[in-house]
Amino acid sequence: MKIVVLKFGGTSVGSTKKIKKVAEIIVDYKKKNYKVIVISSAMSGVTNELIKKSFEISKNFSESEHDVLVSSGEQMACSLIAGRLIHKGHKSRSWLSWQVPILTVGKHKNSRINEINRNRIIKYLKEGGIPIITGFQGVNNENRISTIGRGGSDASAIMFAKFFKAEKCIIYTDVEGVYTTDPNKLKKAKKIKIISYEEMLEMASLGAKVMQPVSIQDARLNRIDIEVKSSFIKKSGTLITKRSKIMNNKIVTGISSTQNDSKVSLIGVKDKPGVAASIFKPLSKNLINVDMVVQNISANGKETDLTFTIKAEDLSKTKKIIQENKSINYRKLLFEKGVSKISVIGVGMITTPGVTFRMFQALANKKINIQVISTSEIKISVLIDKRNTKKALIALHNEFNLDNKK
Ligand code: ADP
Ligand code: ASP
Ligand code: MG
Repeated sequence: MKIVVLKFGGTSVGSTKKIKKVAEIIVDYKKKNYKVIVISSAMSGVTNELIKKSFEISKNFSESEHDVLVSSGEQMACSLIAGRLIHKGHKSRSWLSWQVPILTVGKHKNSRINEINRNRIIKYLKEGGIPIITGFQGVNNENRISTIGRGGSDASAIMFAKFFKAEKCIIYTDVEGVYTTDPNKLKKAKKIKIISYEEMLEMASLGAKVMQPVSIQDARLNRIDIEVKSSFIKKSGTLITKRSKIMNNKIVTGISSTQNDSKVSLIGVKDKPGVAASIFKPLSKNLINVDMVVQNISANGKETDLTFTIKAEDLSKTKKIIQENKSINYRKLLFEKGVSKISVIGVGMITTPGVTFRMFQALANKKINIQVISTSEIKISVLIDKRNTKKALIALHNEFNLDNKK
């Protein structure tokens, strides 16, 4: 069976007009004799609206009810797509995750899909039907609806491609593919024709919203090629695939940025073994993700300064945890919301020395101060003043020759 998985993001199904367009794309694949499995997200803005409502009900809204609530956005989009296909004379129906079923493991709001029952969908495909399946969700072993993290429909599509051994897995979105940096932030951004899982994973984790990081991990693990393309413009997109398929002479493939980071500094911390652990242990217990960390060498051997970054939404919780932590001594506690993390990413930097220097020099030339640095084999991240984000993006995009067409 020649199967294609087509995933449509919130922006692609954002209005009934757009849904009519989506139905045409689906029919095109059907005409090419594919068995088409469609995964849809909620209409854009709907998930956010639902989350807002839950907060109006309670600041501590039940996590299991949160999942029931937010998963409903996908139900609406799927029935509208199926309805349009039926209107056009095709056999189609919506499938909610429990009807498939799609099975999940893990905590509410952040589960993972670990199995998809194939039988009913295969039977339906054989009957000539086009299943329109709710992304972003499944049912857990207690038969409760569970969602798989924001942007999770991408991961739903990858798992369908895996379990149904799809020939193609295509992520339709509102941009033409994966760009060297967010094309909505920098006009000069260029579409990347082909990118490795590793680079895409770093770009996504470091702020490129176009693909959800978990979906890239799953695709890499299962060796599933992903095409990312536009729902609105008929043009070739980006192929996300294994590194060995790529001939690339660029040192840096892309640049990501985030604007929702906050910086926490503890000044004059008593320097003794175990101090960092006693700061970070209660944070990790409370599921606060600590990202970049720097600790100064203590000049007098007694005191040191420690700085780290967290998501802005975790700031008030972090403040409380540190202030209530009786096992640490420090002179001053500083918090800063106005920071942004810029990262350059590329497998080319493994074999090319001097990338760090070029990055720092390009920022220095624009008088942009670097506050914190972190690196891995294929990425360098720096923390800067949020107001300099655009300036830094422009400078680095130019420095690493991303302004030029490949
Ligand atoms: P969907 O609704 O299809 O899931 P998303 O909003 O999740 O779409 O992702 C698409 C958006 O990702 C684009 O509109 C773009 O602004 C943003 N984006 C961020 N970084 C990149 C990048 N490097 N390449 C392409 N798009 C990016
Ligand atoms: N609708 C969900 C969200 O907004 C899932 C998705 O978009 O993939 O996060
Ligand atoms: Mg998305």
